[in-house]
Amino acid sequence: MDQGKNEMKTPKKDVLGLSLAELTEEIKSLGMPGFIAKQVYEWVFKKYRSEFADMPNISKMNRDKLAAHFVINRFLSTQAISSGDGYAKKYIFELSDHAKIESVVLREKTYNTLCISSQCGCAVDCKFCLTGFAGLKRQLAPSEIVNQILYAFQDNEPISHLVFMGMGEPLLNFEAVFKAIEIINSEEGFNIGKRKITVSTSGILRGLQKLLDHEICINLALSIGNAIPSKRIGLMPIEKTNPLTDVINMVAEYQKTHNRKLTLEYTLIEGRNDAPEDIKELINLAKYLKAKINLINLNPHPKIPLKPISNEKMDAIKSTILAERVPVTIRFRKGQDISAACGQLGESLLTPC
Ligand code: SAH
Ligand code: SF4
Repeated sequence: MDQGKNEMKTPKKDVLGLSLAELTEEIKSLGMPGFIAKQVYEWVFKKYRSEFADMPNISKMNRDKLAAHFVINRFLSTQAISSGDGYAKKYIFELSDHAKIESVVLREKTYNTLCISSQCGCAVDCKFCLTGFAGLKRQLAPSEIVNQILYAFQDNEPISHLVFMGMGEPLLNFEAVFKAIEIINSEEGFNIGKRKITVSTSGILRGLQKLLDHEICINLALSIGNAIPSKRIGLMPIEKTNPLTDVINMVAEYQKTHNRKLTLEYTLIEGRNDAPEDIKELINLAKYLKAKINLINLNPHPKIPLKPISNEKMDAIKSTILAERVPVTIRFRKGQDISAACGQLGESLLTPC
């Protein structure tokens, strides 16, 4: 038997998924000077190089050694679609196994936000969300999360704010998400401050506990669906295993210890969460948690049998909330014409390659 053929080769590590400290350690353990890690990081994060051969300040011998042990994986292909209003640009990225994920550049007046994916698809099955309809295809590696931001920078879209509001439930892939945040936040990486990073969650208790344990100080957004648990369960079945009452306690604890911005994301759906009693409960929750409310009218999709509310009703709900002195915003439906708005990502998972 040919032993050589059966030997398991250790897969090469992707530089995009390693913190500078980790890369330095790895490089030192291969007998190279540690400072090479910093040089590699600069080529990758500031000059967008993806071949070690294109890093001329590193010796040929060390470049060959690096190439034997590491890779810098870029997406196999990328499609970019701009919205007619010019406010959004959607990227569809093809991963190394041909799975697809989506990110969206959202242009604000003075800065750009990137809405990124944490999973390919989502298992949480919220009844108003297309990504949930598509189901979970697979988890993303830290490098695949980081690569979304790298691509935007390389595409001349300077990103200063980041929201984990693309495909997937970030707290069901917390290890990869936390590692990616470490890299994104580091000075040698993208240097995006933790106050400018928001993780949006449907309320995963185990993930919230990990956030508390790891002391990761980012902004949180909590997707409510309906603040009345018996009604929430019909929109967000996750309520069965991760009840809102327990989630609230944990989020309150996070707020107490971390003092970061908290937003309650409220997707409005005709007849499902727009009654006066629903809004009253939402207001009570926001007051208790000292949170801001972000109202998002349902972004419709033919696959989702639910309806948005009228603009008049939306304005009336906003006024009711304001009258209670709770900060509230209405999210403008940027990029709807290219299915780039909240809850509309996932089309690429439903259509065959
Ligand atoms: N899984 C995380 C983050 C991704 S979803 C979460 O659920 O928070 C990002 C946001 O889009 C959530 O606030 C979610 O409630 C909202 N959303 C999902 N589907 C939507 C739709 N069809 N219309 C408007 N908002 C939607
Ligand atoms: Fe998943 Fe968030 Fe969509 Fe729910 S709203 S299915 S948690 S991506």
